[in-house]
Parts: sequence; C-alpha cells; structure tokens
Amino acid sequence: MADAAVNSYELDLRAIQFTLYEHLQVQQLFDHPHYSHLSREECDAVIAQCAKFATQVTGPLNGPGDRAGCRFENGTVTTPDGFRQAWKTLFELGLMSFAMPTESGGFGGPHAVECVLQEIQSGANTAFNMYPGLTHGAADMLFHCGTQAQKDLFLPHMLSGRFSGTMCLSEPHAGSDVGAAKTRAKHVDGEIYEITGQKCWISAGDHDLTENIVHMVLARIDGAPAGTKGLSLFIVPKVWVKPDGSLGKPNDVQTGSIEHKMGIKASATAVLNFGENGACRGLLMGGVPNQGIKQMFRMMNSARIAVGIQGIGVAATAYLNALGYARERLQGSAAKNFKDPNAPRVAIIEHADVRRMLLEMKAKVEGMRTLAVKLALHNDLHECLKDVDAGKAARHRGQVDLLTPIVKSYCSDQAFRIAELAIQTYGGAGYVQDNPVEQYCRDAKILSIYEGTNHIQAADLIARKLQANGGEDFRLFLEEIETFVARHEKTPGIQAEVTALGVAVDALKRAAAALMEFFMSGKVDQVMLNANDFLAVMADVTIAHLLLEAAVVAETKRGSDHDDQSQEEFDFYAGKVAAAKFFVNHVLPMVHARVATITAGDRSALDVHDRGFSTAV
Ligand SMILES: Cc1cc2nc3c(=O)[nH]c(=O)nc-3n(C[C@H](O)[C@H](O)[C@H](O)COP(=O)(O)OP(=O)(O)OC[C@H]3O[C@@H](n4cnc5c(N)ncnc54)[C@H](O)[C@@H]3O)c2cc1C
Repeated sequence: MADAAVNSYELDLRAIQFTLYEHLQVQQLFDHPHYSHLSREECDAVIAQCAKFATQVTGPLNGPGDRAGCRFENGTVTTPDGFRQAWKTLFELGLMSFAMPTESGGFGGPHAVECVLQEIQSGANTAFNMYPGLTHGAADMLFHCGTQAQKDLFLPHMLSGRFSGTMCLSEPHAGSDVGAAKTRAKHVDGEIYEITGQKCWISAGDHDLTENIVHMVLARIDGAPAGTKGLSLFIVPKVWVKPDGSLGKPNDVQTGSIEHKMGIKASATAVLNFGENGACRGLLMGGVPNQGIKQMFRMMNSARIAVGIQGIGVAATAYLNALGYARERLQGSAAKNFKDPNAPRVAIIEHADVRRMLLEMKAKVEGMRTLAVKLALHNDLHECLKDVDAGKAARHRGQVDLLTPIVKSYCSDQAFRIAELAIQTYGGAGYVQDNPVEQYCRDAKILSIYEGTNHIQAADLIARKLQANGGEDFRLFLEEIETFVARHEKTPGIQAEVTALGVAVDALKRAAAALMEFFMSGKVDQVMLNANDFLAVMADVTIAHLLLEAAVVAETKRGSDHDDQSQEEFDFYAGKVAAAKFFVNHVLPMVHARVATITAGDRSALDVHDRGFSTAV
C-alpha cells in the first residue's frame, strides 16, 4: 500500500499556461475595467500557490483519505486526518475567494483562471474539494439572491471558512425529479419558516471542518403549486447565528447517516432530517416565495460546470501518472525486434498501443480543459460587457448556457473513461492500491450521476439550449467552427483534419435536423433515445475544433521562434499538433457512426416489451 504521506497528484503547468494565455488569450480580460485590478503576474502567482497547496497539502491526503473515509458516530461526522488543517490552510491562502465579487469580500478574479484553480484542487483531492466547492456555490447564490440582512449574517463567515455550505435538493423519492420534493415549509413570522422533511445524499451535509453549516434547502410552502414552480429556497443553518456573528442555539437539523460509497469516500454524503422535533427554522431566500428553483439554478449551473472541471482534474492527474509509469516500466522489446528474444527490454511508452492510449488521454484532457476555460471566458466577457454592450454580452451568456451541459457531461464521462484507460496503461499495477489510478476511476464515477445525471444534461441541451434565443446560440456556435474551417482548410500540415472537422459539422447539423423532425412528428421518445448520442457528437466536434485551433497556435509558435526555442518547447508545441491530429483521426470519426444511429431512427429500445429485456426478473 502506498506511503500515507506521498503525493500522487501530477499537474502540467506548462499545458495550463498554453491554454490560458497562448491559445485563449485570457490576458485580454485585464484590459477591461472589470478585471483591470488584476494582472497576469498576479493570476500566475495565485495559480502557483494553488499548485503548491495541491501538491503539498491536499494531494498527500488523497489516498489516506480514501482509505480512512468519513466516520459517523454518535450522530456526528468525522473527516479523515489532516482535513481540518487543510481547510484552515485553504482559507488562510484566500484561494476560495478568488472569483467571488469584490463587493462580497472576494478578489473578483476571472472565472477563466478560477477554472484552472478548481481543476488543480479537484485533481489533487476530489473528496476534500467537495467541502469548499459547495461552500463557494452556496456563498455565490446567497450573494446574488439573499437579502442584505441574510448576506450580512452568513456570507462573511462562509468566505472566511468559519461556516460551510450545502445544496439540499434530493429526497429519497425525488432525485432527477426535483419537483417531487416533499419537504415542507410553514410560515412562522416575517421571512422565518418552519421546515420539515428529509433530504438525502447531501454532500458536505455534516462534518467537523467548520463551526457551522449553512444548508440551502428546497422546500414547498404550504399551499404552493405542485412541481418545481412551487418550490422555495430556505437558508437553514445547523446552528443559529447572532447578529454579532457568535453562535446561538442549535437548529433542529439531525444527521441520520452517511453513505458508504464507491468513491470520494472522504466526502461525507449525509441523510439530513429537518424538524424531527418540530423546531427547525429556515429563512426564505431573498424573502421571495416560489422562486426556489430559479434561485437554486444559479448554484446548480455553477455546480454543473464545477463537476465538469472535477472531471478534468481527475483525468489530468490520471493521464500524467500513467505517462510517468509508461516512461519507467520496462516490458517487452520494440516491435521491430519481435523475432529476437535477446533484444533489449524497452519502456512501455515505446509500444504503439501504449502510445495510442497516452495520446488519446492527452488529447481529451487538453481539449476538455480548453473547453472549460473557454466557457469560463465567455462568462467573464459577459461580465465585462453587460453594462456597455448588452447585445454582445448576451451572445457570450448564450454560449455559457449552451456549453454548460457539454462541459458537465462530456468531461465527467471522459474522466471515468480516461481513468480506466490510465489503469489499462499501467496493466496490473493500475488495478491495485499501490498506484492512484484505481482511486481516480472510483472517484470519477459519481461525476456523471450527481448534479443532474448526464442524460438529464443531454435532455437539457436538446429541449432547452438548442432552442434558446430562437436557436441563435446554436447558430453562433456552428458559425464559429465553420469560420475556422473556411480559414484553415488550406493550412499546411492540418488540411485533412480541418476538412474532416467541416464534414463532422455537417453531420452534426444533420443530427440536429433529424431530432427536430422526430420532435415535429410527435416522437419525443425518439428524441430522448438519441439525446446522449447527440451530446456526444456535439462534444466531439467542439473538442476537435478547439484542439485544431490549439494546433494552429502551436504550429505558429514552433515555426516562428524555432531559432531561440529549446528542444523542450519545440517538442511541447509538436505535441499539441499531434494531439489534434490524433483526435480528429481516431476519435472524431465516431461522430459519423453516432449520426448514422440517430438518423436511422431505430426504435428497438422503445418498442421492445418490458418482458423482452428478460423474463427472469
Ligand atoms: C455521492 C453523491 C453526492 C450527492 N450530493 C448531492 C448534494 O449535495 N445535494 C443533492 O441535492 N443531491 C446530491 N446527490 C444526489 C444526486 O444529485 C442524484 O443521485 C441524482 O440527481 C440522480 O438522482 P437519483 O439517484 O434519484 O436517480 P434517478 O433520478 O432515480 O435516476 C435513475 C436513472 O434514471 C434516469 N432518469 C431519471 N429520470 C429520468 C427522466 N425523466 N428521463 C430519462 N431518464 C431518467 C437517470 O438518468 C438515471 O439513469 C448526490 C448523490 C451522490 C451519489
């Protein structure tokens, strides 16, 4: 078993810098008044500090935390050794407040940089990062939706790390179907309500890291309409807070149990009982009833993006660990010497199939990172422009909305697959706990399930996002890729790949048209049957575009600067081009199989009788 103090987290700061500054030009933000209080140097310093925190503090706690898990004894939850100190250090470093608005006491940093900070922290210790991640989301929602008095009471303590936050939607019978929630709220006085009900699977629902936990709870006020429209949002602290910030009486929030899970074992996932003794009180968020789902969507949207970023973090460290192992593990001889039993043994990185796995992982990790940072950059540009050019700002907002389900689904699905590929790269050594990749694989599986399963994301993409703004967001998305194709279809070195991207975009359009046709002819079930395939097609096209764009940048750099360039830099840029070519030639062709599946309109899964699946159960 691995040494308890060993850090397994690996990161590639050079690749991150390329995405931020050479490819996506995030430094453009510092010219806008909204971000002019920051510079690239300051952001780089925060990234470096975050990397140090990840490799020296939370990274070494990842394996031991997985093995120890959280404990639930006598109604209280204990997190693994080292977590309390890590929490304290995180807040001392101010990393949590980087992207929070300055008016709330944060640094007001760009989401594009925050995206990288989150990738690093989630990659180092996915389970630990659940606690600050939820606190950040809850604090952000409170800042945007709470009354001034509510913010004054809780926000400074959440941003200082004294209190943490949660999101409480799920109930035993209401998972994907959030609108079926039965938790009730009865008016007591002013914005105070009595809360009764049970929430389950609540991440960071109970723990020993903070003095208090601020639960954000969806509940239905007596007499409110059924479904999501009748839900209101309540701020339900574990312990009441006095105006001077000191703690008052405990609220009636009891922890029923915590789950025993496949992964993220050091993240406490709790069953919470509100009002078992009839004494649980909550404050109506913003003082407005029946706005709960709208308010919660602020937290859910950022959590969906955050889950995608969790996936990138896990996938990136899985890939880099596999790469390190492949460089050292000697096994077999080079293929050209296959007839010579005395040929020298080679590192497995020399075998074609291992190179295939490594380049697939690299291409996907770097493509996903670029996608997430690009989404975040759209968010930042929206912030910069919303008061000066509403039309342009809205276009950036539209891209954030359109790309959110793709970031959530694609990056979470791929995280599991990349971690699995990392295990395959190791061989048997990947399947045992001496190496971290088996944990990465277990930790990554939840990402496609929580925050709305990946099918719910695909349904959201098709039913809402493609149609949003009269289809304008999707049209702009396609236009950007088609403009790239038109500009680069004769660019030497990647001509064939750019042409292939153009053909894939046409296929994507055909798939969208087919779904529309199914919808118009009343076959909604057929639309849903193909939703995941459609999302996968759109994601592959998006990633191929971004990787080719990166290849164009890399090609220019390695061409123009070669005289002064180190061999290492030259090879770095060459790796970018190779990753793009690999993705387009080995992954993008799957688009055509999926589009053929969608357009064929097969109904076997829909028409088969339930008994046809099996008569045994
Ligand atoms: C470790 C962990 C942490 C969690 N943290 C939180 C948290 O902090 N807060 C919180 O509120 N919840 C949390 N959850 C709950 C999580 O969000 C739900 O598990 C998730 O939304 C899915 O709900 P479910 O498990 O009830 O599955 P179900 O909704 O029962 O879904 C089961 C399957 O049916 C499919 N399905 C369901 N409805 C439809 C539909 N209408 N159309 C097509 N397919 C459908 C799903 O895609 C899935 O494949 C957590 C769960 C876990 C395991």
